Amino acid sequence: MRPRHRYRQERWLHTRISENLEDALKREARRRRLPVSLLVRNVLEGALDLVEDLVETSLGVARRSQDIARAASQAGLDEIYGWQELILNRGAACARCEVELDAGARAYRGLSDRAGSPLFLCPACVRRLGPPAADREEKAP
Ligand SMILES: [Zn+2]
Repeated sequence: MRPRHRYRQERWLHTRISENLEDALKREARRRRLPVSLLVRNVLEGALDLVEDLVETSLGVARRSQDIARAASQAGLDEIYGWQELILNRGAACARCEVELDAGARAYRGLSDRAGSPLFLCPACVRRLGPPAADREEKAP
């Protein structure tokens, strides 16, 4: 359980509520044998904890899955000995810049000694790998 900091410095909170809400709160307080103020505080605490938990959980999941995807694609990229040009028959994402590659698009499939799902690079990322070594030598003086 998370430590509860909120009680440490207590403040008054005045708020306008409808008659219906007041009746409902009073009824619920009677039912739970609690002062109305404590019931309100419990309800607010519960609502905030719920929101915090939801936000923390979804942020955590998103961050973790991004990290995992990044780590996986980086590990995968290191294993690749070559890139083979092809036309995609179904959509994929570039393993480096994560751009969406549609079916019919030119892409480069990473050839790896390791089995696993294929990695693709977009043409821009392949160009960023630089020209083949032979071309560079020819241009050198
Ligand atoms: Zn790319």
